[in-house]
Amino acid sequence: MKMLINGEFKSKEELFDVKNPYNNEIVDTVPIGDRGDVKLAISAANKAKKELNDFSSKKVSEGLYSAYESLKSEKKSLAKLITKETGKPIKDSIGEMERSVETLKFAAEEAKRIYGETVPLDAGIGGKGFFAFTQKIPLGVVAAITPFNYPVNLAIHKIAPAIAAKNTTILKPSLQAPLAAMRLVEIISQEFPDGVINTVTGFGGEIGDELTVNDDIDKISFTGSVATGLLISNRAGMKKITLELGGNDPLIVLEDADIEKSVKAAVLGSYLYSGQVCMAVKRIIVDEVIADEFIDLFVKETEKLKIGDPMDPKTDIGPLIDEDAAKMVEQSVVRSYKRGARLLTGGNRDGNFFEPTILDNITSDMDIVVNETFGPVSPIIRVNGVEEAISAANNSEFGLQAGVFTESLKNALKCANEIEAGSVFINKQSTFRTDNMPFGGFKMSGMGKEGVKYAVNDMTRSKLIAMNLR
Ligand code: NAD
Repeated sequence: MKMLINGEFKSKEELFDVKNPYNNEIVDTVPIGDRGDVKLAISAANKAKKELNDFSSKKVSEGLYSAYESLKSEKKSLAKLITKETGKPIKDSIGEMERSVETLKFAAEEAKRIYGETVPLDAGIGGKGFFAFTQKIPLGVVAAITPFNYPVNLAIHKIAPAIAAKNTTILKPSLQAPLAAMRLVEIISQEFPDGVINTVTGFGGEIGDELTVNDDIDKISFTGSVATGLLISNRAGMKKITLELGGNDPLIVLEDADIEKSVKAAVLGSYLYSGQVCMAVKRIIVDEVIADEFIDLFVKETEKLKIGDPMDPKTDIGPLIDEDAAKMVEQSVVRSYKRGARLLTGGNRDGNFFEPTILDNITSDMDIVVNETFGPVSPIIRVNGVEEAISAANNSEFGLQAGVFTESLKNALKCANEIEAGSVFINKQSTFRTDNMPFGGFKMSGMGKEGVKYAVNDMTRSKLIAMNLR
């Protein structure tokens, strides 16, 4: 595929092979762009601002609706493409596309709801006799930098709200899985003037960095690892930034939990897309009283998962994104044995594949739970009572989402109040998101919120207009 800059497809001499993690076949190639390409895209996006700002909100909304219809009609083929480039089981790629289509519809709706407010200046000293109101105006050019794991959904959470708020935008997708996102940009571009939406492909250290440091970018909306997020925040200067970073989400199972429901949640939450999900369940914190019962059923259910070809609709577990990623997970698991972890199931790597793995006897200071383990691993931390469970959950530098299983209202509310995370779900695993909800972590998991309405708000600035009537 080619980059899209100012309405024109652009290739380069140097191409990157996008490989299928399942069989290492080349799915397609993408250009390895450079800083010059980013500058061209930025200049096109800056020029297109005026044309987009001349659009009525109705016209922007209609353009996004029309893109929504087109995306809907391509959702099956794009789901297949996601599976090819990421190795994600096809049923989960279909789920990603369903959500992406809905996200685009939310953005089309939100484009009509960008309100300011009247401000009673006369409540303050000297403010009598004014008529004042705020207006939410676009920021300008929004850079969208995205990771490999949800290539379409995470891209649409940036580019659609950006356009809804009348910003122009440049997407830099992950080189590991850029293809479906590039097609998404092509679809949206059909509805808007050239330069409103652009894609530049290439390495993060060059394309991502130019987007980060270039003075003609007004906002960076980034989703990816903590390491890259920190680099961006150090180099972005005065630009507005939203950072959606890693997670180490706990699933807390208290003494009074419904064990069957919590096991179902643990399986789904730990192994969706082989655990390569920011909000995957990455730590299971179980009350000692019910730990053995929970673990027996959890192991049994985990062993039922079908590992195999991600294109097969029955497959639950496909490969990790590449062999290095699988080796990293393997190393963390092996290191945990040396610190006293007990393997209950799984633990083996075969090329890019890693088996769903349950580890018992984990303590909060082990690497496997201190760092974000981006793979199908469930480390179990045993605790005594709700206080210890909350303290184990908070004993992490991350704070994206959390899930708590309990039948007690008191425990539920205590956990909801005391857990340091962007969202706390009661009787649901953290691996859950609807695309209209505010989404974004505390602590090292990031800053700012996504979810269409919240992203639109963060992609505007508020201007006060005050008229002296006296
Ligand atoms: P990554 O940080 O390696 O890459 C993300 C993007 O940043 C890619 O497009 C990459 O090319 C770009 N990049 C790399 N170096 C850059 C630089 N110096 N300047 C600017 N951009 C640069 O992340 P990944 O491995 O693709 O994704 C996995 C990570 O993403 C995990 O940590 C996961 O938890 C996180 N994630 C977070 C969320 C969330 O919403 N909180 C969602 C999905 C994934």
